[in-house]
Parts: sequence; C-alpha cells; structure tokens
Amino acid sequence: MQVTLVILKPSAVQRGILGEIISRFEKKGIQIAGIKMMQLTDETLEAHYAHLTEKPFYSRIKNSMQASPVVVLALKGLDVVNVVRKLSGVTNGREAQPGTIRGDYSMSVQENIVHASDSPETAEAEIKRFFTEGEIFNYTPYLNPYLYANDEL
Ligand code: UDP
Ligand code: MG
Repeated sequence: MQVTLVILKPSAVQRGILGEIISRFEKKGIQIAGIKMMQLTDETLEAHYAHLTEKPFYSRIKNSMQASPVVVLALKGLDVVNVVRKLSGVTNGREAQPGTIRGDYSMSVQENIVHASDSPETAEAEIKRFFTEGEIFNYTPYLNPYLYANDEL
C-alpha cells in the first residue's frame, strides 16, 4: 500500500469545503492514515516547493499558502499517489476536468484547493516532511474486503 500527501490549501479552508473534499477521498475508498491542521513555515514551504522557489511568482504562491492554516492528509491505498492526482485534476482549475476536485471547485491556477504528491518518491519525502512517525496511523479498515479483491491487498 502506498501513502500520499494531500494539502488542503487556504482556498479550501477559507471557502469552508474541507469536509466536502475529505469526503471525496473517503467515498473513493481511500484510507485516512493521518490528518492535522498546521500553519506552513517559510522553511517547510521552501522545501515543499523547491522546484518553484526561483520562479518570479514564488512569493505570490508563498503568501497564498500561508494566508491561513492548511490541513494535511496522509492518504493510504493501492496506487494511491496516482489515484489522488487523478481525483485532483490538472493544476489549472479552469482546465481541470469536471468531476475532479480542481475541475469542480477552482477557477484558478494558484487557488486550486489541493496539493497532491506527484510520484511515489515525492510522496515518501513529502509525508516525512509534514508528519512525524507517530502521526501516521496503521489500522485495518473494516471495509477492506469490500474495497479490494484478496489478491489486490
Ligand atoms: N502555481 C502557480 N502558478 C504557476 C505554477 C504553479 O500559482 O504557474 C502554484 C499552484 O498553486 C500549484 C503550485 O504552485 O498547485 C505547485 O505547482 P506545480 O507545478 O507543482 O503544480 P501541482 O503539482 O500542484 O499541480
Ligand atoms: Mg507539484
């Protein structure tokens, strides 16, 4: 089983749609292995968006990500990194397919509701960045037999 990181950005917190977004992951059959609210520091953001710190718009993204606390989720499931990226939709909310989170809730590139890890390697590093070991919970979902075939688990 993989674990992936989702950040419910200030655009989700302030618009009061945390529950709706989390509910989408739950209904899909994805397990919540960790969840907390936090205020992102400069250091955490620089590490998290290392691929963007040299861009002219980095300070705009930084301000946006620090505009309120965020909620971070550690989501667990089979191929969950890829599944959650697909559920999230492409970066630009105006281009994202209807039915995806960004496609249904966002009109913006920046204010696009969620972050989702983009590869298994990134997911591992991001989970370590945002959660301590004790904050990731290992419990068996009772519904597993109805979510997966025996040979998938
Ligand atoms: N972003 C932006 N303008 C850009 C590129 C990115 O505002 O031209 C923001 C946007 O919020 C995006 C985040 O920076 O979600 C991280 O960018 P990335 O290219 O990693 O997109 P993602 O993986 O979130 O789809
Ligand atoms: Mg990215």
